[in-house]
Formats: sequence, C-alpha cells, structure tokens
Amino acid sequence: MKTALTIGTASARPGERAAGAIPVGRRPGGAPLEIPLIVLNGGAGDGPVLWIDGGIHGDEPEGPLTVFSLMSQLDPRAVRGAVVGLPVVNVPAFENAQRGNPGDLFTYDLNRIYPGRPDGHLTERLAHAHHETMVAHADIEVSIHSGGAHSYLAYAQFYPVTPEGLELAKAMGPEWDLLLKSFADRGSPMAAMKSRGKPAITVELGGLCDTFPTRFRANGEALTRALLNVMRHYKMIEGAPAYARRWMVGQQKTVILAPTSGFWLPVPEVLRQRVTTGTVLARIHSMDGEVAAEVTAPYDGIPFGMRTNPTVQLGDWCIFYGVIEEELTA
Ligand SMILES: [Zn+2]
Repeated sequence: MKTALTIGTASARPGERAAGAIPVGRRPGGAPLEIPLIVLNGGAGDGPVLWIDGGIHGDEPEGPLTVFSLMSQLDPRAVRGAVVGLPVVNVPAFENAQRGNPGDLFTYDLNRIYPGRPDGHLTERLAHAHHETMVAHADIEVSIHSGGAHSYLAYAQFYPVTPEGLELAKAMGPEWDLLLKSFADRGSPMAAMKSRGKPAITVELGGLCDTFPTRFRANGEALTRALLNVMRHYKMIEGAPAYARRWMVGQQKTVILAPTSGFWLPVPEVLRQRVTTGTVLARIHSMDGEVAAEVTAPYDGIPFGMRTNPTVQLGDWCIFYGVIEEELTA
C-alpha cells in the first residue's frame, strides 16, 4: 500500500500532487533561499521515482517549461511510482537570467560542482542540498539543458556509459538519436547519480534564440513527449513506448572555441548533419566586412549545437561538436 511521499517541504498522498521546496539557507535580505519542487505521487501502484531537473543553468528556460507541461499532462491517479519536477535548481541564476548566480563568482557553474559542499561557497551549498535530496529519493534522473543565452543545441543527450544509462537514453524516443558518452564521475547531477549506480541523462534542446512563442512551445512539447515516452518505457504510465530505429553513438570531442573576435555568421546547413574534416561551419567577420576566420570541422563528425549570439569574442564557445563512433540499431 503506497503512502504519502514527502520530499523537502512537499508532501503528496498517493494520486495527488503537491508543491514545496528544498531549503538551502537565507538570502541577504532575510528571505529563504530554497529550491522549488513539485511532487507527483502516483496513485496506480509502485514504480520508480523519475526526477527531473530544470534550470541548473539559469538562462535555459526549457527545464521549467517542460516540468510545468509534463505535470499538467499527467493524471496523478494513473501514474505508477512518482515524478518529482524541479523547474529551477539554481534559483538565483534563473532570477538573473544568467548561466550562474552573479552573486557567487567562485562557483559560478552549478553543473560542474556536484556533489557540492555543505560548508562551501553559496552555489556549492545549493548543489549539496539538491544532491542529498536527489540521491535519497530519485531512481531515474533527467537534467534538461539548452544553448542558453549563447547557443542553440539540437536534440543531443549525454549519457553515462553504463547499461542503465544507455537504456534511459534510448527511452527518450525517436527524435533523440544522438547519444554522447559521458565518463565523468563528478561534477553534474548525472555523474552523481551514476556514482550511485542509478540511470541519469543530460538532454539538450533549444536556447534563448529559440523562444519565439511557437518555437518555444514546440521545444517544450518535444521534451514533454520524450519524458512521457520514458515513463511508458519504465511502465509508469500506460501505452507503448516508441524508439529511434538507429542511434548515432559517440562523444562530444570538443566545443570549438572562437579563433578570433568579430561578427559570428554560422552556416545553417551543417547543423546536426554529418560533416567531414575541413567543412566550413561558420565564418567570423571583422569590421571591414572581410572574413577574419573560418571555423571548420576538426574531424569527421556532427555539429549538434551552434553559437547564436552574433557578437563573438576570441575563445568563446562556438560549435558543439560530436564524433560518431558507432551506430546502434533497435
Ligand atoms: Zn546547461
């Protein structure tokens, strides 16, 4: 017989949904600093706890969009197990619409510092509070990311090279056929889950360039569709899951950095296409209008993300670049 599920300050009885928060500490002005969460406790029987993290980077709105969309589409009475959605993990970063919290310049990027530290810098403490709660409750974790303020990323996912990690990546469904191996044991929530022997993935779709109302909705629907597919795969809801017919499996070999500063002009046709070494991916113009540098493919591979901010500075992230090592078929 299922009982109430209490996580942080949220407590949901079977077949119900409740909102609350994970306490972190206090803000300078006295208000609490906490991580909001929504707990959906399924009323249809036992099953895994699917944990969804959004807003680990505060300039990536696809996480909250997807958590809200998924929660609104699920009938808690028809779910086996539970779904825990964190719309925004790094709340101060989200409030400033920035990748990291501008109030913490020492541990700016939350996605590099897991499992955090209970006595560290502010973002390390936030990571610690999130980590402890997540590993205590989550059976499956999905982190939702995008290109944020600087880039667009196209249906890519990182997965730990474990059988359960690969199974979860495949469960994202037909559109998610680019699987990039992650070998990290620390740094991200995904790595923290891996070190506990639990499946977790980091998925990438969209960016602030892609929040025009129809496009933004479409990205949220694509991510929601994928998570519903994950829930069908793990038998958390009724229905037959769908899968890609084949998967491109490889690694993000590099993020190509800008070789010079200037005006960024990418080549649209190459995005998420297989390209060969030397293919021109983008050009950087100097202010006389001439091409100051061409950005070319460093190996045979697949550019799965591109800078979208036309102002580019020497050393900026430009092209997110994967190398395909094998193809898997269903
Ligand atoms: Zn991110």
